[in-house]
Amino acid sequence: MTDRLLRGRLLTFHREPQSGDDSDAYTYLEDAGLLIRNGIIEDTGPFETIRAKARDVVVKDHRPHLMLAGFIDTHIHFPQVQVIASWGSQLLDWLNNYTFPEETRFASQEHSQRMAEAFFDQLIAHGTTSAVAFCSVHKTSADAFFSEATRRNMRMLGGKVLMDRNAPSDLRDTVQSGYDDTKALIVDWHGKGRNGYVISPRFAITSTPEQMEMAKTLAAEHPGCHIQTHLSENKDEIAFTKELYAQARDYLDVYQSYGLLGDKTLLGHAIHLEPREIDALVETGAHPVFCPTSNLFLGSGLFDHGGLSARGIMNGIATDVGAGTSYCMLQTLNEGYKVLQLQGQSLHPLQAFHWATRGNACVLGLEHKIGTLAPGTEADIIILNSAATDAMALRMERAESLSEELFILQIMGDDRAIDEVYVNGVAQKAKA
Ligand SMILES: [Zn+2]
Repeated sequence: MTDRLLRGRLLTFHREPQSGDDSDAYTYLEDAGLLIRNGIIEDTGPFETIRAKARDVVVKDHRPHLMLAGFIDTHIHFPQVQVIASWGSQLLDWLNNYTFPEETRFASQEHSQRMAEAFFDQLIAHGTTSAVAFCSVHKTSADAFFSEATRRNMRMLGGKVLMDRNAPSDLRDTVQSGYDDTKALIVDWHGKGRNGYVISPRFAITSTPEQMEMAKTLAAEHPGCHIQTHLSENKDEIAFTKELYAQARDYLDVYQSYGLLGDKTLLGHAIHLEPREIDALVETGAHPVFCPTSNLFLGSGLFDHGGLSARGIMNGIATDVGAGTSYCMLQTLNEGYKVLQLQGQSLHPLQAFHWATRGNACVLGLEHKIGTLAPGTEADIIILNSAATDAMALRMERAESLSEELFILQIMGDDRAIDEVYVNGVAQKAKA
């Protein structure tokens, strides 16, 4: 792997900024050097200082652009790249009318492979270097996902969904086949290269109690794997869940009673929560994941980031493509800002950029590997151009601070603002 010295402005976070004035939470350098060796960030600092230590290394000058850790998307559906932007319904109809028919196509290895290539192309184009993905029920889809991630050397988490009821017959596994396929995928992919396996019961509605019991067994047998599912996205979904699991105290209790809650658990949406559920999140350390573009698109509701954070709960933020409407974490932060505004909560741009990088890494317990530009971490880096469009350039003429620039990126930015993406130290756009 070629060693490389990047030059540009540098922003990296050490902890979550408490406010816009909390400058100890991050490092910002106007003219920085970032030295990459063997895919790892070896050193950062003022450019001339780093240059003096690495005279032999090729310099890539990204000035005046901004170097930041690659974005992390903590909830996305790989088989939904051709479902995004499907009109007209809320969650349960949307799943039945669009998503489930589309996901049946991933029984085909050829289709899975083609979609995996397209999926990772989109992630890279939008500056997302790590993601946590749901694959389809088919083992083929997860094999395609992980083999493509491995080929690109990306740090990726994912898993085949477990679903054995309330779905078309060619989209259902069984307790036994779900167990066997998941075990085989963990053996083949978990901890191989930069891959991590995620045990993925889709949600309570599509798993029988017997399958939930099996997921509990899988989780106990593989404590190193993450767990992902969906929670309290939509009121009809909650009512149906309570019918199916009449003995559960509430929706979250379905997962809790099967031993699926811990600090490696990601719960997509978590919008309509009851007080006991919030207490259980505090007790178990499980992570709600805010999916603003999806929540607006499906009319699901408003995620209470401020309320949950005040209880010490660590929330992720994610696109949820295909119900989410953009692969772009900048646009996700844009819509997130608006969802919080509707609740009288203000997301500062420094907090927003922390959230999509180090914040999501902390949610995954991977902040020692990704999410910052700290020496020793993996060189997944994006180069942001704050004047990528004429409208952005015009607005940038009047920007007077880093925070103002970040907010312009957050509100106006999209894939055009992603000037370059380094994955494990290798430039992805220059390569194309
Ligand atoms: Zn989802």
